[in-house]
Amino acid sequence: MDLQPYIRDIPDFPRPGVMFKDITPLLQTPAAFSYVIDQMAAHYKGRAIDGVLAIEARGFLLGAALAYKMEKPLIPLRKRGKLPFHTVSVSYALEYGSDTIEMHQDGLVAGHRVVIVDDVLATGGTMGAACRLVEQSGGKVAGLALLMELAFLNGRQSLAAHDIFALLKY
Ligand code: AMP
Repeated sequence: MDLQPYIRDIPDFPRPGVMFKDITPLLQTPAAFSYVIDQMAAHYKGRAIDGVLAIEARGFLLGAALAYKMEKPLIPLRKRGKLPFHTVSVSYALEYGSDTIEMHQDGLVAGHRVVIVDDVLATGGTMGAACRLVEQSGGKVAGLALLMELAFLNGRQSLAAHDIFALLKY
């Protein structure tokens, strides 16, 4: 299935110079949304996977559906200060400044193998931080699942150790 028609380009959002990849047309099209989740689930079928980590915010939309489909625990990774229980966190550099993502302390069982889900792989900073958080918590990264990869930003380079599954490449 060609997913490109369901990704809308929004120039200069959220700031000038950024071409935002809006996935809401895809979410509004059940055949496209279910295709994405089915393809992701098929990629991991037969592999040892213990859970699905979903990155705030659009990663939640895909990650929740994937966890449901795979019948695996869903673990949210959130921006700083959003999770109510004890957390573990990791910070990562942005173009200007830094950001922090957090997970509940009991989100991962040591040794568990997880898939990390997000909508877009850009520079790879967010995914890299999520991988570090999993590894610091004693988990293992079984794979990275994305709807799309902005290949011109070379995010893959810093994540070379991991299996990256992306349905679209730009
Ligand atoms: P990065 O850490 O640079 O790989 O950026 C990935 C994160 O930022 C993901 O959570 C994406 O949702 C978001 N993101 C980065 N670039 C874009 C884009 N062009 N369109 C939509 N989301 C983006």
